[in-house]
Amino acid sequence: MLFAHDTEVALRGAAALVNTAATLPTDTDDLQTVEELDAFVSEWEWTGSRTHDEAELESVRALRPRLRQLWTTEPREAVAVVNGLLAEAGALPQLVRHDGWSWHLHATSPEAPLATRMAVEAAMAMVDVIRSDELRRLRICSADDCQDVVVDLSKNRSKRYCDGGCGNRANVAAYRERKASQPA
Ligand SMILES: [Zn+2]
Ligand SMILES: [Zn+2]
Repeated sequence: MLFAHDTEVALRGAAALVNTAATLPTDTDDLQTVEELDAFVSEWEWTGSRTHDEAELESVRALRPRLRQLWTTEPREAVAVVNGLLAEAGALPQLVRHDGWSWHLHATSPEAPLATRMAVEAAMAMVDVIRSDELRRLRICSADDCQDVVVDLSKNRSKRYCDGGCGNRANVAAYRERKASQPA
């Protein structure tokens, strides 16, 4: 394991959140309704307070481009984003244990708004990544027709494609190309 368990979960969750946004004209936004937010929240096992309203949805949606910056900017700017997110939320790191998770960090209270908790959890994970000088593990999917973000937690830093199926599609395309170039 590269990072602490909660850091890795937080990084994958942040990437999944960023990837709900449409980045190309052919993409669909997967976070357009409160119901879609509910599904995302339960998939990623977010606990804590919810308001289940449009304002909550809007604030989570608005967080996505800020988090995406962590994948696309220079380290110095990523640091500014992380520090900004932590300062805005008045983050206060505390070790907690709940719902079957062993000791991990929370830096917001369970009553803080969902978007704040999401922002701080992602920022705290980024603190680990940047301190370990591993920012290069955050990259954009290598598929030509995809701009989704990737968290490479592999030992040999070999993950190039997002979790949206681009790796499979690239394998199939490469296989077809090999077949096509073979003499019949
Ligand atoms: Zn927790
Ligand atoms: Zn992709």
